[in-house]
Amino acid sequence: MTVAATRNGTDVSVPASLLIGGDWTAAGDGAEFETHDPATGSPLGVVAEAGQSDVDAAVGAARAAFEDPAWRTMPPAARARLLWRVADLIEQHADEIAELETRDQGQPIGIAKGLNVPLAAEMFRYYAGWCTKIEGSVSAVSIPNTMHYTRREPIGVCALITPWNLPFAIAAWKLAPALACGNTVVLKPAEQTPLTTVFLARLCLEAGMPPGVVNCLTGGPATGKALTEHSGVDKVSFTGSTQVGKLIVAAAAGNLKRLSLELGGKAPSIVARDADIDAAVAGNLQGALLNSGQVCAAYTRFYVDERRVDEFTEKIAAAAAGIPVGPGLNPETVMGPLVSQEQVDRVAHYVRLGVEQGAELVTGGQRPGGDLAGGYFFQPTVFARVSDDMVIAREEIFGPVLSILSYSDPEELTARANDTEYGLAACVWTRDLTTAHNLAATIRAGSVYVNMLPFLDPAAPWGGFGASGWGREMSSTAIDEFTETKGVWINLA
Ligand code: NAD
Repeated sequence: MTVAATRNGTDVSVPASLLIGGDWTAAGDGAEFETHDPATGSPLGVVAEAGQSDVDAAVGAARAAFEDPAWRTMPPAARARLLWRVADLIEQHADEIAELETRDQGQPIGIAKGLNVPLAAEMFRYYAGWCTKIEGSVSAVSIPNTMHYTRREPIGVCALITPWNLPFAIAAWKLAPALACGNTVVLKPAEQTPLTTVFLARLCLEAGMPPGVVNCLTGGPATGKALTEHSGVDKVSFTGSTQVGKLIVAAAAGNLKRLSLELGGKAPSIVARDADIDAAVAGNLQGALLNSGQVCAAYTRFYVDERRVDEFTEKIAAAAAGIPVGPGLNPETVMGPLVSQEQVDRVAHYVRLGVEQGAELVTGGQRPGGDLAGGYFFQPTVFARVSDDMVIAREEIFGPVLSILSYSDPEELTARANDTEYGLAACVWTRDLTTAHNLAATIRAGSVYVNMLPFLDPAAPWGGFGASGWGREMSSTAIDEFTETKGVWINLA
C-alpha cells in the first residue's frame, strides 16, 4: 500500500499507518486521530492511534526481529548497505517528503528541503559508515595468564519517541545509529506531525530492512507512555519536553531501561562590546526564529553589552518586523506558522506575562490577521529591557519571542548565562578570541556556538547539561548510547 503519499497534493489519510512486523495495519481497536495543516488549521489527514494491543504487537515484532538471525547475524557491511539505501531513497523522495513535512508541521519549504530532509539523509550515510567500525578493545588486565577483551553489542528493542518540531530529521538521527548498532526499533512520532515518520518507516521497508526491524506506531502521549512502561523495551531514546522526560525516567524504572533524553533549552546568546553588530543581528535573528522559534537550541535570551544594546535592539526589531510570515508552502515565506493552536496559546501567554512583568514590547506580540487569521501564525516578537528574573527570560517559550537583556560587566556573564535549569546550547558574538574561549569553557551547555547559527552535523555530539537531558546523540557518542559493553575473560593458563 502507499503510505503517507501526497496523492493529488491533498490526500494524506493513512488510517493503516501502523507498521508492525513488516505489515501496515490500522489500530486494533480502530482508533484514529486527525493531523492538521498549521497554515490553515484544517484537518490534513487521519492516522491510526495505536493502543496497548498495538504496542504489545510492535514490541513483540521488534523482539522477534532482534532475535532472528536474518538481522542478528547480518554482516555489518550488509547493514551498512541497507542504511545507505535508506539515504538514497530519502534523496529520491526528497521533494515529496519536504512537502509533506511542511504541510504537516508548517515549516517553510526552504527549511524542509534545505535542512530537515538533507540532514536526515546525511544521518543515514554517516551511520552506514559506522556499521563496520563498531569495535571492542583488548584490556590491559593485570591478572596473570588472562586475556580480557570487550565487545559492543546492540541493546535490543529501542523505543524512539520524537517531538513535532523537526519530525523527519529527529526520527532519522535516532533511527540511523540505532540500526547501525544492530538494534530493532519502535518509532513513535508526535501526534501533531506523524506523516513523514510513517514515510520514513516505509522507506526502511523499501530499502530491504527485514520485517520487524523497524516498526512505527502513530499515536499520542498514551502510546508513548505504554512504550516507555513496556517490559519488552530495553531502551528509550526520547526528544521532547523536560516535563515528559521526567515522566519517562519514572516509567523506565520498571525494568531499568537505558535512556537517552534530549529535552528543552533556553539558550543564551551573548553579544560582546566588540561584536560585529550587523552579523550578530542577522545571526541571532535566524538563530531565534528558525522554524518559528520551535527549535530546542533557539537563541532566546540576549545579553548585550550596555553600550551596544540600543543599536542591537533597534536593528533586530526592525529586521524581525520585516520578516515575511506566511504559509510554509509559499517559497517567499521566511517564517511559517506555529505547529498548533495550543502552541499559539502558549506563546500568547508568555507575551502577556512579558508585558505584565514590565518588559518593553518593541515589535510583534500578536497573531497576524487578514489571510493568515485562520492558521496558527504569530508575529516575530522582540522584548527589550528584560531582566533575569522575568518569566520570559527563564522558561522555554518555543516560539518566535526574543528577550533582550543588557550587561555592564563581562565578569557577570557566565553566572547570568548559567542561571537556568537548562544547558542545551549557547552562543557568543565577539571578535576577541580570549572572550570566545573563556565563555565557551565556562558556560554550562552541550553546544557553544561562536559567531554562528546553531548548526547540527552528524559528526558533532548533540545533547545538554542539567534539565536539557541525559546523554548525547549523533557522532560516535550515539554508538555508545545504542550499545552495551560486554567483557570477555579468557583463561590462557
Ligand atoms: P512533548 O514532550 O510534549 O512530546 C514529545 C513526544 O513525547 C511526543 O511524541 C508525545 O506524544 C510523547 N509523549 C507525551 N507524553 C508522553 C508520556 N507520558 N510518555 C511517553 N511519551 C510521551 O514535546 P513536544 O511538545 O512534542 O516538543 C517540544 C519540546 O521538545 C520542547 O521542550 C523542546 O525543547 C524539546 N526538543 C528538544 C530537542 C533536543 O534535541 N534537545 C529537540 C527538539 C525538541
